Amino acid sequence: MEKLRAAIRDIPDFPRPGILFKDITPLVKNPVTLRLAVHHLLHPYLDREVTAVAGMEARGFIFGSLVAWELGVGFIPLRKPGKLPYDVQTINYDLEYGSAALEVHIDALGSGDKVLLVDDLLATGGTAKASCELVEALGAEIVACAFVVELDELKGREKLERYSVHSLLHY
Ligand code: 5GP
Repeated sequence: MEKLRAAIRDIPDFPRPGILFKDITPLVKNPVTLRLAVHHLLHPYLDREVTAVAGMEARGFIFGSLVAWELGVGFIPLRKPGKLPYDVQTINYDLEYGSAALEVHIDALGSGDKVLLVDDLLATGGTAKASCELVEALGAEIVACAFVVELDELKGREKLERYSVHSLLHY
């Protein structure tokens, strides 16, 4: 895990003054750390009969697709509003400042699906909680939520208390 930690870079004052952004692009640029991260993300779920991986725009697409590929299941993109072309289910949620929304195609998942949710980073948990609820709104079940990074101070895990949460690195 220390290899992964060393591949994540801190960017001060991004995207706003006072925010220390964890930049995962060096980790995904390096094939060794990329493979390591994907391996550790999916390993606990090899025997859990996951039927689909869902990932949030945009960095969740990177890790989520690779995890789906390795598990041999499909990938479901959860997208920002207005991006998906077919009929969508939408969820609105609050951010620290303002609000946001995510959408999924209504036929992307259904009852009987067991979904692993994947994103790069868990901060306040608002995005992940909304994503879980979006998946559940289609009748599917969340098996677990897996993240590369968790910012412990922001207590996102508390928002996800109904779910199993697994993070590779804690800050
Ligand atoms: P939350 O909703 O948990 O507060 O924020 C998590 C979402 O914001 C994730 O989709 C994640 O990609 C993004 N995010 C928030 N802060 C950071 C950060 O420092 N680094 C990265 N890579 N993503 C972040």
